[in-house]
Order: sequence, then structure tokens, then C-alpha cells
Amino acid sequence: MKNSVKNTVLNFDDAFEIVMSSARRLGTERVGIDRALNRILAEDVISDIDIPPFNKSAMDGFACRRADLANELSIIETIPAGYAPGKSIGTNQCAKIMTGAVVPEGADCVIMVEYTENTAENRIRFTGSTTNNNICLRAEDTKKGDVVLRAGEIIKAEHIAVLATVGCIKPSVALQPRVGIIATGDELVEPSRKPTACQIRNSNAFQLAAQVTGANAIATNYGIAADTKEAIDSMFKKGIRQNDVVILSGGVSVGDCDFVREVLKENNVRLLFEKVAVKPGRPTVFGILNQKSEVRSQKPEIRSQKPESVVCPLSSVFCFGLPGNPASTFIMFELLVKPFLYKMTGHDFKPVVSHMQLESTITRKKTKRDSWLPVIFKENGKIASIEYHGSAHINALCEADGLICMPTGVAEIKEGTTVAVRQI
Ligand code: AMP
Ligand code: MG
Repeated sequence: MKNSVKNTVLNFDDAFEIVMSSARRLGTERVGIDRALNRILAEDVISDIDIPPFNKSAMDGFACRRADLANELSIIETIPAGYAPGKSIGTNQCAKIMTGAVVPEGADCVIMVEYTENTAENRIRFTGSTTNNNICLRAEDTKKGDVVLRAGEIIKAEHIAVLATVGCIKPSVALQPRVGIIATGDELVEPSRKPTACQIRNSNAFQLAAQVTGANAIATNYGIAADTKEAIDSMFKKGIRQNDVVILSGGVSVGDCDFVREVLKENNVRLLFEKVAVKPGRPTVFGILNQKSEVRSQKPEIRSQKPESVVCPLSSVFCFGLPGNPASTFIMFELLVKPFLYKMTGHDFKPVVSHMQLESTITRKKTKRDSWLPVIFKENGKIASIEYHGSAHINALCEADGLICMPTGVAEIKEGTTVAVRQI
């Protein structure tokens, strides 16, 4: 297959479009609601009941007729939650009722126990001046047959409550993309080791694994490949056999020891771009490998989910080469890889963005790229830039509350300008 290489610097929007339009949906499986947290719903969920399923008391009190509120009321029965009322309420009657119990026929309000007093045995009086009805009406939240959750939604704790309420105990969810992570660099040692004078610790692989996990995908860290074609190739070959996506960190630029692009090409990865006009993150590579079926057939066994529940296995592997500097890796994952991984599961990822005023003017000289800068939220409600030494300065991202973008062509953003802050 011929590689269609676009060796130009793409603007970010074009690169984003290429990445997002390449995404393929993975299959689906059913998981119990006790394991569904953060999975992506694969189909709409429909309620099999009205919610509430009956007119329900919102208070502990007395169910009665509003027309009788000025009168003394006789208590005709007690209705605990979970039990059907035995009688209907007539003139000047009431039923003692508990929160969550069925409101009896004839009653149109529940007076709170706190606003009543006993006047005689089994007789009460309303001591308040006004009252709400304190009745949750049948089907006021949801009607039987309503769609309660939409496909594509991330299942959060509150969604799990809804799933349980409508009896959807095994929702259909998207399979999680499996993402292989390969760090490259002769200078790298694993974090457990003390680096020598010319080494650094491999932080990217762990950062990326955390980002992948945070994006509800399954990360496998393959460790460090030395800066040789052979080392990268053998780790890459393993990565593509076992994953839907492979992320390589480092080795993507044009240095003598940068072999990632070459290895990708030699493995028939169709590179769709090799540079993006983003700072940090320019030498970002994206490509697709259409695998032969005998290679792919190994995948369902490797996947953690049971093979019989796997529908529609994917036949391409998507490859990202991210520049090695940790802030570049972090930001390019956030901007490109994360929305892509979510799209593979049917979720339309949108970052959390706040619009806030800049406390003081920021400027730059070179304007050929979108620059992403870390900022903090100030107590005065504005944002301020923080000390940032560039693409290796990962600590600055720890301090930051968000990132702002100085778009290509812009050399200055003036104090007081409202800018979009992307939360990280
Ligand atoms: P490269 O993209 O390979 O040219 O690397 C750019 C910079 O990022 C160099 O200073 C590398 O030492 C550093 N770097 C590369 N890979 C990693 C990694 N896995 N963890 C931390 N820093 C890295
Ligand atoms: Mg390197």
C-alpha cells in the first residue's frame, strides 16, 4: 500500500478533522450496573415504568383534602412506605402517611407532621397557615416508554441510579479502546531507577496511561524502546497486535535518532499528517494501519471482555506519534487523542471551557502556531498566566487551572479580554 504522506504543517482544525473523521466505532457489550461507571452507553435506555410509579407522599404527615384544612381531622389509618392504602379519604378525614408511601384516593395534599397537633386520640388539626401539596405525582418525572438516557452518554453515578430505577441492570456499552503506549529514547530510564547524569526518567508513558485511563480506555504500557529502528519496530509490532490504538512518545522529529515515522511507514501505516501548527506539539504524527485479518483475529482473545459479548471487532489500528516533551505529550493527548478515543465509543467529547477575563496582557513574537498556555484562576475572578518554560515544563501544568490558546497569527491578547479557558 502506498503511504499518503502529507509532510506539511497542518493547522490544528484540519488535523483535528482528519483524526476525528478517521475514528471507527468499536463493538458493544453488556455489563452489570455495578461495573458500568464511566462506560459509554451504546443504546438509548427506555423506562419500563412511570416515575414516580404512583402518587407519592413527599413528607411524613397526614394525607387529607385541602378543603378540610381548617377543620379537625380524624385519622382513619396509617400508611407506611411500601404498603397500599386501605381506605379513601372522605370529608374531615386524614391518613397518617410516611414519606414515599402511596397517597390514598380522595386526598389532594399531605400536611407535614411538624404543622399539626393532636386534639384528641386519633384526631389532629393543621397548625400552619398554608401548605404545599407535598405529593409527587405519578409519572411527573418520567413516563413509561420515555427515553431516560441517550446512547453516547458517559455513565456517571447519577446515571446508574436512573438505570437501576428503570430496571436496566445490564446496559449495552461501547467496548473500551485498547491503547498501547510505547516510550522511545536512549536517555530514558524507568521511574524506579535513579537516572545517571545523561538520563531522564520515563514520565510520558505513565502520564499517557493515566490520560488513557481517564478517557475511559484501557492502557497497556510497553515500556521503553531504544532509539533504534529495530527496537521501536519490535515493540510497535507487539502494540498493533494487541491494541486498537498505539501511541508512541518521542522520536517523531527530524533528529538523527528519531525513527518513529520511519518505523510507522515501514509497517504500512498510512500517515495522514506529520506536523501540526500547535505549540507545544508540532511534530505530532497520525496514521492508520489496516491490518490483515489473521493478525486481527488474535484480538478478541487478548481483550479483557468475554469474546461472546464482543460485537463487530475493529480492523484498523490508529497510530499517534507524540513529541517527547512531557507538556507536548500531555497537551496533544488532550487536544487530539482524547476526543478521538471517545469518538471510538460513540461519545462526543467536549472539553469544559469557561470564559474569563485576562488579568494582564500576554504577548509573543512568533505567531505561526496555536500556542497553548497554562493559566490560573485568580480570586478576583480573572485568569493569569503562570511561569512556564515551555514544552518540558510539566510542573507548570500541575499548577495550572486551565489552558488558553493564542491562535495562529495572534501576537497579543490584551488585559481585560475575555478568553476561553479549557480546563485540564
Ligand atoms: P524527542 O521527541 O524524542 O526528541 O524528545 C524530546 C524531549 O522529550 C527530550 O528532551 C526527551 O528526553 C524528552 N522525552 C522523550 N521521551 C520522554 C519520556 N518518555 N518521558 C519524559 N521525557 C521524555
Ligand atoms: Mg527521543
